[in-house]
Amino acid sequence: MQQRIDEVERRIQEACARSGRNREEVRIIAVTKYVSTETTIEAVRHGLLQLGENRWQDAQAKWHALQDINGPALTWHFIGSLQTNKVKEVVGRFACIHSLDRPSLAKEINRKAEQLGIRVPCLLQVNVSGEDTKHGLQPEELRGFAASLADLPFIQPAGLMTMAPYEAEPEETRPVFRRLRELRDELNRAAVLPEPLHELSMGMSNDFEIAVEEGATWLRLGTVLVGKEEEA
Ligand SMILES: *Cc1c(COP(=O)(O)O)cnc(C)c1O
Repeated sequence: MQQRIDEVERRIQEACARSGRNREEVRIIAVTKYVSTETTIEAVRHGLLQLGENRWQDAQAKWHALQDINGPALTWHFIGSLQTNKVKEVVGRFACIHSLDRPSLAKEINRKAEQLGIRVPCLLQVNVSGEDTKHGLQPEELRGFAASLADLPFIQPAGLMTMAPYEAEPEETRPVFRRLRELRDELNRAAVLPEPLHELSMGMSNDFEIAVEEGATWLRLGTVLVGKEEEA
């Protein structure tokens, strides 16, 4: 695993150098959805302390196992489409929800966070590419949705998230990532939210270097970083 980590690190540094960014602006979420609890523990031992999962049903065994080992040093990111009836499991356990994409979900997160007395950092997921199979707000819905969050004080809007379509030629994802950055900057210029949005969660195994060049602050890396196991 160390070899994979070193290789990803080198590629991120080169993408930063090409685009004049500081390496510290780009953080890695190790997406462990394809790997076992054992491999997840190995990833943590290699210093990957930000973990991402996309389904609570699959994540919970790992979450509990890792709680006993590393507890508070770890942060978990919820990156998958979130069913409203799973919100009660996710809020309080995951430091950040990357997939806020509809009013009913926002209300439920807010309700649960209020019960716990916490504010939950959330990223607004945008379907920039417009593919039917992708979740997320349409770009034209984003502004109205962001404005509506003012009524939900236990949600802390922290940025935007998108998934690019898989492209055999990663360069072709660039317009999607660039558009997400522009959408964030437009929201900030219009001061739609009281606090400017900072985060851009974008870039996966296939396209992370392009995402870095276009301003990603969080990369969500599964296969390229921790691998993929058949029976995870
Ligand atoms: C699975 C997943 C990833 C990581 O995928 P890889 O291509 O293996 O890096 C990133 N983001 C989301 C939302 C995912 O579901």
